[in-house]
Amino acid sequence: MVSYTRYELPPLPYSYKALEPYIIEEIMRLHHSKHHNAYVVGANAALEKIERHFKGEIQIDVRAVLRDFSFNYGGHIMHTIFWPNMAPPGKGGGAPGGLTADYINKFFGSFEGFKSLFSQAAKTVEGVGWAVLTYDPLTGELRVLQLEKHNLLMTAGMAPLLVLDVWEHAYYLQYKNDRASYVDNWWNVVNWDDVEARLNKAVNLAKPLIYPSLPTP
Ligand code: MN
Repeated sequence: MVSYTRYELPPLPYSYKALEPYIIEEIMRLHHSKHHNAYVVGANAALEKIERHFKGEIQIDVRAVLRDFSFNYGGHIMHTIFWPNMAPPGKGGGAPGGLTADYINKFFGSFEGFKSLFSQAAKTVEGVGWAVLTYDPLTGELRVLQLEKHNLLMTAGMAPLLVLDVWEHAYYLQYKNDRASYVDNWWNVVNWDDVEARLNKAVNLAKPLIYPSLPTP
């Protein structure tokens, strides 16, 4: 009997209004309880189809089901990283310290240089998608990337550290079509402690995942 674990909507690590005034309660409530939840439901529905395929109950269009799974799983993963990447103003915002500051200075010249590149990535995503700061396990360096939708332009094996949702559902109720202002204000709620924790894990875990035999630098 083939049976898969179902995905679950994780609770927010703060209240729906905690990111105000930069992201209003109504956006956070809908974004988490409706949009993110829909990706969880969608990913689980794809799993159920695959299970039923193995039970001989249905024939599936494998390409369609896997495409559906990729989109919804991507949505679930990206939002699961996005929520703790943010923290209420005061706890969030400012500039990073620790290993994050060292890596950012080394690979983007300065914090301002990084912020500018990441912001431009977020503001110029074509259609809907994400800006992503990742750790590249092949070189031990940081990269800024764009994702279209939740899953296109994915670079397998790179560990996401900081992600910014630029789908319209993430800002439209407050910022209307002004994605640039949303991106500029978002820096006030970035949780650098979470980024630091993710970077530490990535440095220690990501490289062996790709090339187990390579020595760490
Ligand atoms: Mn979203």
